[in-house]
Amino acid sequence: MKTIKSACFLKSETDFKNYKGFGYPEIVFAGRSNVGKSSLINLIANNGKLAKVSATQGKTKLVNFFLFNDEFLLVDLPGYGYASAGKDEQERWAKMINCYLENSKQIKCAILLVDIRHTPTKQDIQILDYFTFNNIPVTIVATKLDKIKNSEKQRNLANISATLKVGINNIFVVSAEKKIGRDELVQRIYQFIDGE
Ligand code: GDP
Repeated sequence: MKTIKSACFLKSETDFKNYKGFGYPEIVFAGRSNVGKSSLINLIANNGKLAKVSATQGKTKLVNFFLFNDEFLLVDLPGYGYASAGKDEQERWAKMINCYLENSKQIKCAILLVDIRHTPTKQDIQILDYFTFNNIPVTIVATKLDKIKNSEKQRNLANISATLKVGINNIFVVSAEKKIGRDELVQRIYQFIDGE
């Protein structure tokens, strides 16, 4: 079984015009702001302080690179979909992400986070389509499992599965709060890194 032995912040980028990568395979993390992305990154890293868990939304939009096990980069895309974002800001976001996805030659897979309590949004579907269009395999992660009753789990997963048109087997379930789902997700990431 693969485990995470080290994780550190590498750098943040905003401009990908001349992006050449850092020589590591890249795993992209995307999702609405507040979906629990920072918390999940911290869970995987086993370091509660690696990615900031933000109380306030809509701060500077940076793409953060974290180096795991000296083997792969976890690429933390800025969260989207917060209420206060204007059209200009959304366009800047899309431009930056497009530029990154077009210029990176090393993306192995994308992890798209959705909140297990909610139906995925139009923007979730858009970014999923965009990954697929760029031939990037996507794994869906449903976050905050601890926030629902056990009896709701299957119904919520079926709803996410139907909305995103992905098989229920392609949805991983996590709780950063209860530390659920970490090992499974790490194995999944390594399947893509090792090209299995
Ligand atoms: P991000 O904006 O996607 O990076 O989301 P954060 O990781 O900052 O989390 C947003 C909020 O959801 C914070 O208040 C977290 O404490 C909370 N949160 C994140 N993951 C979980 C979880 O698994 N369970 C619960 N109950 N709360 C969570």
